[in-house]
Amino acid sequence: MGRCPLCGQPVLDKGKFYGCAGYVSGCKFTLPKELLSKDLDPSIIRTLLSGKKTRKLKGFKSKTGKSFDAVLTIQEGKLVFQFDQSKFRQKKVRKKPVNRRMRSS
Ligand SMILES: [Zn+2]
Repeated sequence: MGRCPLCGQPVLDKGKFYGCAGYVSGCKFTLPKELLSKDLDPSIIRTLLSGKKTRKLKGFKSKTGKSFDAVLTIQEGKLVFQFDQSKFRQKKVRKKPVNRRMRSS
């Protein structure tokens, strides 16, 4: 798949996840095959392990059930979400009030 960003050993397909071959010497680097309802296919894993950002991945589901798009990258051995900042800003400006929270008690 690629090399572990922490110790440089190969990252292997472990069945349910991808794990570093250096785990025997204590490396804890792993990558999930599925993240927030989104399958991380081998091409995504390869991109991550080569130290690059992925393309924008669609279809993540947050804990609250909201789906969102994000770019993934690895920082210090951890998966990190990166969001489209410019789009975020635009959204904020155009923000319409959401009345969901305004329950009449
Ligand atoms: Zn490792």
